[in-house]
Amino acid sequence: MATNPPKLKTKIAANERMKNLKETFESKYGESPLFYAFAPGRVNLIGEHIDYCGYSVLPMAIEQNILAAVSVNNSGKIQLANANPKYKDFSVSCSEEIAIDRDDPQWYYYFLCGVKGIQEKFGLNHLAGMSCVVDGTIPPSSGLSSSSALVCCSGLVTMEANQKSLSKAKLIEFQPLRATDVKLPDGAVFVISNCCVEMNKAASSHYNIRVVECRIATKMLAQARGVDSSRLLKLAHVQMELKASLEEMLALVDEVLHPEPYSREEICKVLGITSEQFSTELLSANTQDMTQFKLHQRAKHVYGEAARVLQFKSVCDSEPANATRLLGELMNQSHASCRDLYECSCPELDQLVDICLKSGAVGSRLTGAGWGGCAVSMVPSEKVESFLQAVREEYYLPDPRRAAIEKQSLFVSKPGGGAAIYLEE
Ligand code: ADP
Repeated sequence: MATNPPKLKTKIAANERMKNLKETFESKYGESPLFYAFAPGRVNLIGEHIDYCGYSVLPMAIEQNILAAVSVNNSGKIQLANANPKYKDFSVSCSEEIAIDRDDPQWYYYFLCGVKGIQEKFGLNHLAGMSCVVDGTIPPSSGLSSSSALVCCSGLVTMEANQKSLSKAKLIEFQPLRATDVKLPDGAVFVISNCCVEMNKAASSHYNIRVVECRIATKMLAQARGVDSSRLLKLAHVQMELKASLEEMLALVDEVLHPEPYSREEICKVLGITSEQFSTELLSANTQDMTQFKLHQRAKHVYGEAARVLQFKSVCDSEPANATRLLGELMNQSHASCRDLYECSCPELDQLVDICLKSGAVGSRLTGAGWGGCAVSMVPSEKVESFLQAVREEYYLPDPRRAAIEKQSLFVSKPGGGAAIYLEE
């Protein structure tokens, strides 16, 4: 049986990036790496902000990735360094419990999440000592899952260093990937463009505000249909409980929830709970100050977007002659819903999406959490060059800050390989 993750032999000297990483490692630690671990970023083609509501999403691995060089030793420590000097060195003892400070989103805490995940999974009492240098090429906080790739990579590192392996299906749980393959139509490519506004999810509350609004909408819909809402946390749970279609859920949202924002008092009254219970059971630590909740809009987005993911997949599966146009329309509807109902776009992203459509894309939308980060556009293959040129001229070149990072901000996304361990040949 093939090992998971796959272990591949590679000539380090033939790969500029790996060669540099090996040299950095050697000058830092005075020894050579034992192995390398690799995890790709991803671009979500459609299905935004619905994973945490219990619905499937449609991502594709990209070439940009996190790579780590690793040695295993008797230091009794996990020593971390990064090829990028903006990420500081860190070291932690293997004999102490690994503590992760949720309020301080340092890069090494993401790494330690992967270590801890594997430690807990295998009940490892004694972690092997190891030294690592991490090198990443995924633009951070741009919606391409740099942090998930880092967690996935450190999970692989920890598994390999402690001589463990997982079945592939379990490994996928670390990534925002689902298991069914979807064949994308020939004749179109996906282009990623970064609007150059960064949004760090762990350092802002936008994201948690939406999670909370969806949770409250879940309770309100369940309550309206006389279902015990105490066990239900996600919008998908209400759908399952009611055995309804997504279309029926959309109609239910219109019937039950009003478009005007809800106040705390109104929600407490409908759910029959105290303000205290509201704060402790429904709000998270960083959303305690919220006073208004747009339940109708958020639930409309989630059920509508969940339906679009299924339609996207069904177009890919049935390959009609106008597949590209249909997929493009679904992407455009997705962006409009993110912008207007979920309010997770920003002026720069909206401008970029408009430019992409004017420049020849058949569909374009924000990807990832939003409030900044990347757009993904579907572009007919024969138009790619003129598309890139037009977007460059309209969005990047007029602004010196954008122009300076255009090369890593605008690129055709070729499907990338999956996570793997590399050994020097
Ligand atoms: P994303 O959507 O890219 O996952 P997040 O804001 O959730 O965005 O996470 C970005 C964080 O991930 C960065 O602030 C940093 O802590 C970590 N990160 C991303 N890339 C690297 C890297 N190459 N090296 C170290 N840490 C990284």
